[in-house]
Amino acid sequence: MGEVKAERRGLLIILSSPSGAGKSTLARKLRDWDPSLQFSVSSTTRAPRAGEVDGKDYYFTTQEDFRNSVNKGEMLEHARVFGNYYGSPRAPVQRAIDNGRDVLFDVDWQGAQQISNSGLEDYVLSIFILPPSIPELKRRLISRGQDDEETIKLRMSASWDEISHWDGYDYVLINDDLVETEVRLKSIITAERFRRSQQPRLLDHVRKLQTEFEDDT
Ligand code: ADP
Ligand code: 5GP
Repeated sequence: MGEVKAERRGLLIILSSPSGAGKSTLARKLRDWDPSLQFSVSSTTRAPRAGEVDGKDYYFTTQEDFRNSVNKGEMLEHARVFGNYYGSPRAPVQRAIDNGRDVLFDVDWQGAQQISNSGLEDYVLSIFILPPSIPELKRRLISRGQDDEETIKLRMSASWDEISHWDGYDYVLINDDLVETEVRLKSIITAERFRRSQQPRLLDHVRKLQTEFEDDT
């Protein structure tokens, strides 16, 4: 890891949940709240949904290009989810950390585990989003209106596998009322930014205070 130039170390904020629990919605709220938050734009072999923009929502790619990137070590993590490949490009994450910027990841439990095991665990803040109930999860998937019946079935049947990893995360939020969840999520991030370990230049500040204190007494 490069030398930390910033006042504060960047956090790698990982959001995971079963599909439909609300993590993309919450991620968008966080982006509006703090435009300095950098989104990790994943590569995927999945087809774009209506309205999704290449380079903003995902880098849409072929299986061959995806495999090449993995083989060249360009992915910080990658996984097969719902029959498609997804991965987080490594280079933007490294740059963000070096510059004290936070990165937000929307990845499944496999991605969360790989990022935590990649030597970057000191930077990781992982948050799991649970739905209030399974019928409500299904209702949200259907109401999103972006997946056909077959895809919704696949996502529902995979939801327990994802939920079963809830206990590997630092924080867990039940996304019942959206506004409340948003407030809680922002509170967690705000607090984590002030951890002593996140502020490598505190020592300089305290030394300055000490000098001023000694000059004054
Ligand atoms: P994910 O990214 O986890 O797959 P989305 O953010 O796409 O889920 O949310 C799925 C659907 O549920 C969307 O239509 C979204 O507007 C809706 N939704 C998200 N959070 C809530 C909530 N707390 N209450 C009601 N609907 C919600
Ligand atoms: P979707 O197809 O709904 O956009 O995403 C499906 C699932 O893939 C979600 O659980 C999402 O968190 C996960 N996902 C998206 N990008 C990545 C990634 O780069 N790596 C991993 N491991 N999972 C991802």
